[in-house]
Amino acid sequence: MGETGVKMAEVKASYCVQCGKCSGSCPAAKFLEMRPRKVVLMYHLGMVDELIKSGWMWMCADCLACEERCPYEVGPHSLIMELRAYCARKGLKLPAYYRQVASNITKTGFVQEPVSIRTRARRRVDRSSLGLPEPKGPSRLEDFAEKVRKLLEVSMS
Ligand code: SF4
Ligand code: SF4
Repeated sequence: MGETGVKMAEVKASYCVQCGKCSGSCPAAKFLEMRPRKVVLMYHLGMVDELIKSGWMWMCADCLACEERCPYEVGPHSLIMELRAYCARKGLKLPAYYRQVASNITKTGFVQEPVSIRTRARRRVDRSSLGLPEPKGPSRLEDFAEKVRKLLEVSMS
């Protein structure tokens, strides 16, 4: 996949022996159609279009279990990150979640603003009720947002 411009990722994919430990430990493989072992194989075979069509890279939960368990340090997750970056550079439409995250970061300084959640005992808790301090966002949000926008531009160029 020379198009991604990431030689190291190509080299890493060539070390894969298709043992399947990554897929065996992947939560996205358990609950979705995600197949990290196949991602590596298809990456190695240069099947970029097919990989993008599969949408597998957007199903990854970024848990890094595959990186930890791979005996050959191939690390499917790093290849998945390359695929995501490749899609962004190509100007392909990213899933709504990623667009929302980018928008949240530039508007609020947070990936997601703190929310309350319901516990198993059906009690609603938030940071305050747990005695946690309110997280501090960037002191100068406009400057911060501008830097993030520039970073995004550079990473997609
Ligand atoms: S664990 Fe590593 S070597 Fe085994 S299939 Fe996955 S990427 Fe390949
Ligand atoms: S990082 Fe992604 S591909 Fe790897 S085990 Fe976790 S969910 Fe699966």
